[in-house]
Amino acid sequence: MRKKVIAGNWKMNHSPKDTRNYFAEFNDLVKDSEHEIILCVPYIDVAAALESTHDTNIKIGTQNLNHQVAGALTGDVSVKMLEDIGIKYSIIGHSERRQFHHETDDYVNLKIKSAFDHEIVPILCVGETLYERELGIAKEKIIIQIRKDLEGLPAKFAEQMIIAYEPIWAIGTGKTASTEDANEACKLIRDEIRKMYNDDVADKIRILYGGSVKPTNAQELFNLEDIDGGLVGGASLTPKDFADIVNFDK
Ligand code: PEP
Repeated sequence: MRKKVIAGNWKMNHSPKDTRNYFAEFNDLVKDSEHEIILCVPYIDVAAALESTHDTNIKIGTQNLNHQVAGALTGDVSVKMLEDIGIKYSIIGHSERRQFHHETDDYVNLKIKSAFDHEIVPILCVGETLYERELGIAKEKIIIQIRKDLEGLPAKFAEQMIIAYEPIWAIGTGKTASTEDANEACKLIRDEIRKMYNDDVADKIRILYGGSVKPTNAQELFNLEDIDGGLVGGASLTPKDFADIVNFDK
């Protein structure tokens, strides 16, 4: 039985002060949850978030990392710096980074391998644009991303991965994929992992749905066979809404 993962992505929102206030309310609301709860916060909030969630069931992640340990890379934060402060999760390949920072699948692949070398579990994001969906090539796009992003990754790491299927047209738009489409895409990813690795890896890997998840649709989505939880943007910004999503089964 795979443990459900409910991950939040604050994107470029909340200050360190907001972060302290957020967890002062949120921690108690989710203290009885048995799911894996992860909040991926902006770098500037990491220290406040780690401090505010010390000794709780909440894990803190980042939204990106640089795969190199150190170097002349103005404005970047290295995988080793994150490891040193105890970060265990990072989103990698979010569509906003692919679109606005031109991150390619080859680059995403480097980041995934480097994350594992530094004991950070990647939350890899994949998904099609509206244009690709309308052209009827959504499945091909997802399969290409999975194959390229995981190329050369040993099975012992692949089985620990968290992959979020995020149809780009559903991110921040209020539009959600139908439950059938969401489950079908997550199953497609699991089947591809089975082909690339084996049954064991495919049965262990956690595959999430992301794209306008809200308290009102979380239960329906997260109860589907191939959906192991969610990656939540907008609705993770408010403690009550995100707690309602984490507690979807209560
Ligand atoms: C996201 O940022 O990964 C996301 C799914 O955002 P939203 O929930 O706001 O659509």
